[in-house]
Amino acid sequence: MIKQTLDEWRDEARERFGNKGVDWKFVCPSCGNVQSPQDFIDSGCSEAEAARLAYQGCIGRLAHAGMKVEAKSCNWSAYGFLGTMGKGRIVITPDSQEVEVFDFAQEAEA
Ligand SMILES: [Zn+2]
Repeated sequence: MIKQTLDEWRDEARERFGNKGVDWKFVCPSCGNVQSPQDFIDSGCSEAEAARLAYQGCIGRLAHAGMKVEAKSCNWSAYGFLGTMGKGRIVITPDSQEVEVFDFAQEAEA
């Protein structure tokens, strides 16, 4: 798995998807759904929630919470017991915590 610092991760995201964080795209390691924070906002999340959720859990989790979800999705989370099953990334925070996150979506899927 790719392991990178938070700054490196942000730089790569900007390079791939641009400066607007709501447009960054992540792929669910379980069902393959491609999602951005914007999708979470469209389902009714606040911008802060959306930014946090989009790389940590499949948008299908919102459906379980009773929110509207259009995408074919599941309820996988990167912070669950199985993490991302080796398909995600590890981001090292400024205080040296290692956080497992969903991988970036490939451009073709976007
Ligand atoms: Zn999923």
